[in-house]
Amino acid sequence: MTAQIIDGKAIAQEVRAEWKVRADALKARGITPGMAVIIVGEDAASKVYVANKVKACAELGLHSEHIVMPSDTPEAALLAKISALNNDPKIHGILVQLPLPKHLNAHKVIEAINPDKDVDGFHQKNVGALVTGETPFPSCTPFGVMVLLEKTGIAIEGKHAVIVGRSNIVGKPMALLLLHKNATVTICTSKTIDLAKHTRDADILVAAVGKANFITGGMVKPGAAVIDVGINRNAEGKLVGDVDFASVKEVAGYITPVPGGVGPMTITMLVANTVKAAERLSGFNK
Ligand code: NDP
Repeated sequence: MTAQIIDGKAIAQEVRAEWKVRADALKARGITPGMAVIIVGEDAASKVYVANKVKACAELGLHSEHIVMPSDTPEAALLAKISALNNDPKIHGILVQLPLPKHLNAHKVIEAINPDKDVDGFHQKNVGALVTGETPFPSCTPFGVMVLLEKTGIAIEGKHAVIVGRSNIVGKPMALLLLHKNATVTICTSKTIDLAKHTRDADILVAAVGKANFITGGMVKPGAAVIDVGINRNAEGKLVGDVDFASVKEVAGYITPVPGGVGPMTITMLVANTVKAAERLSGFNK
């Protein structure tokens, strides 16, 4: 069997077009959705991610502000910037690019964002609402995975979903979103005994580990949908996922490539969350 490749780029374009309609409807009422991205320091990967976020906003005609602060920025200065953005009517979504330099308390910084503008969905109020199934802002990467599954027509209800990784930004919210769609969910971590036993039982396997080519063909159930969240550089400097694409595509029913799978969806859902924030803040929410 050779798996069907899930084209994240094409699905992202389709989803962006849907959200552009909503953004345009707001603009017709005089409201341009606006996103502010704060980056502290010079992390090379973060700079690329931020540039892509700003580009996606421009594509949909959104207003965006790209705020660069030096790596030795005092916490008080960052909190003051967030406070100003919380009160800025042109800005509906605020995100602080992680990781932050070590002297800054990421938890305190995230909690300073107005939860109604927390388009990353990291504020505790939104995390709590995710648990109860009511968050307006699901975290962008797992939200993007859900949309990929739905647009590809992969059934979720009653299926066994196995997630490898339990981070607050990917693994845990992924588990909750799948659970809300009535999957039976298993979360595996670095402490899991006999990982392959669990992954081989997955109808939907989500890899969010951060280890190049970690999931191999022998760890996958024939016909499974395999979603690769990982972004890693291999020894040759090439971008690769957590899934060994060559061996897994021979076993799986569906597979996402890296690049061109989950990545474009993450940014798309961030823009979607910003449009939704603008709808809610302006009282025009659907
Ligand atoms: P973290 O490092 O925060 O979490 C990794 C998780 O993998 C941990 O829960 C860890 O377990 C688990 N893990 C590590 N080794 C093993 C193992 N041998 N067996 C089973 N589980 C293991 O990473 P993130 O969740 O932030 O990111 C995961 C990957 O996704 C990275 O490559 C990252 O770059 C990528 N990413 C991609 C995005 C996109 O848009 N495509 C967005 C965000 C992230 P434990 O908790 O026990 O340590």
